[in-house]
Amino acid sequence: MRMTNKVFSDLAIWMTILGVLTGVVFPFFTLLLGVPSKLAMSLPFALACLIAGALVGGLNFAMVRWVVGRRLRVLTGSMLHIEQTLRKMEATQDSTLCSPENCMIPVDSEDEIGQSAAAFNRLVETLTTSLHSQSASKAFAGALTSQLELAPLSEQALNQFFLNAGASGGLILTECAGEMKLGAAQGLLNPERVIQSEPVNRVIRTGRRVLIDIPEDVQIEGVVTEFRPQQVLVSPISYKGVSMGILVLAAGSNFKADQLELIDLFLPILGLSLNNAITHDRLQRLAALDPLTGLYNRRFGMGRLHEEFGRSVRAQTPIGLLMLDIDHFKAVNDTYGHLVGDRLLKSVSSIMRSSLREGDVLVRYGGEEFLAVLPAASSDDLLMVGERVRRQVEDLILQESEKQIKVTISIGGCAAPHHQVSNEESLISKADEALYRAKNGGRNQVVIDR
Ligand code: GH3
Ligand code: MG
Ligand code: MG
Repeated sequence: MRMTNKVFSDLAIWMTILGVLTGVVFPFFTLLLGVPSKLAMSLPFALACLIAGALVGGLNFAMVRWVVGRRLRVLTGSMLHIEQTLRKMEATQDSTLCSPENCMIPVDSEDEIGQSAAAFNRLVETLTTSLHSQSASKAFAGALTSQLELAPLSEQALNQFFLNAGASGGLILTECAGEMKLGAAQGLLNPERVIQSEPVNRVIRTGRRVLIDIPEDVQIEGVVTEFRPQQVLVSPISYKGVSMGILVLAAGSNFKADQLELIDLFLPILGLSLNNAITHDRLQRLAALDPLTGLYNRRFGMGRLHEEFGRSVRAQTPIGLLMLDIDHFKAVNDTYGHLVGDRLLKSVSSIMRSSLREGDVLVRYGGEEFLAVLPAASSDDLLMVGERVRRQVEDLILQESEKQIKVTISIGGCAAPHHQVSNEESLISKADEALYRAKNGGRNQVVIDR
């Protein structure tokens, strides 16, 4: 029964009452033991019993207060210290602050106080795990949201998995337009072999995660480098139920429960980030590429030409431009239809692409008109590349049912600083003039403005 809002005050009151009651009852008790009633019932004896009873009650209370109170004060002090450490840990995101010595109360008794300390320790453990997960997720989300490109994003994600989930090797596959592509791989000697492995295919098929134990005596030679994996996790990565890719993590020892929980926490964040990156990639393609040929569209291509022209002016290196136009293309459309015309456009585009170098920029400038920007190319280079394209187009045969369709291409070119042009527009008009001459000269030829 509570009388005050302090346990020790209640205890003091109860103990004093008990002491006084003992003092009241004691004279009657002495009667039973044969003490003469004259003495037992005398006022001084009754008073002495009352005082003695009250004193024993008070002493009892003082002892309880000393023994229990001291231990409770130690417990409270430790709890306050741990609370401050946890606050500091949350503010600094430094999980090392809460070591077992720092964040655990020694359980040195088997009574309620010991049990309270043990329960508090368990609470702290749960709290630190949750704070650690929270800060790890924050770091994971932070690292990922700062990236929109697929490859660096996958690499960042893998690093975070290595840092927090005990993995030492792994890869991320990203799914774009139903096709799996390698986003990043680390610690694996042969990622391709992992991609084609049965577990990865099973996860792609079923969409369900697998955790594979690798027995000591099984050799998986060549797959993983630097360490011998004991457990491999293969998990789908999804966003709103749509597959975004596959995560493979290999660890030198079994994944712990909290590491698996962290992986579960990271996966939806990774799914969302991959979705953003894939959407970004798609939008960029949409904005930059011509859907039929896959070459840069005119708007984006002009931007690239502007950049390349600026670079060549700054670095004082030459820059070449080729203008290419399929001959009598209208006749192909008129004779075989637009779809055949489209197929031809695609074939000619891939010929041009394969004839150019990595850093060259190929643009669909108009319907059947193309622009190739060749950084560092001289007039001679332009003639060589132009001739190569012209000859390959001339040799191209497009099979359409029974018929074989053939076309030719006319090419005009011009190189700077050979012509000391002031901007890329003048370079285009010079190449255009050369193309006009190629057309007038009978088509199927390359004219370089020299
Ligand atoms: P020239 O030798 O003088 O270049 O003759 P040409 O017939 O190639 O030139 P013209 O400019 O008269 O015709 C270009 C044709 O290209 C007209 C247009 O129907 C066709 N064309 C433009 N874009 C596309 C396309 O995306 N697909 C198809 N199939 N045809 C296209
Ligand atoms: Mg044409
Ligand atoms: Mg044309």
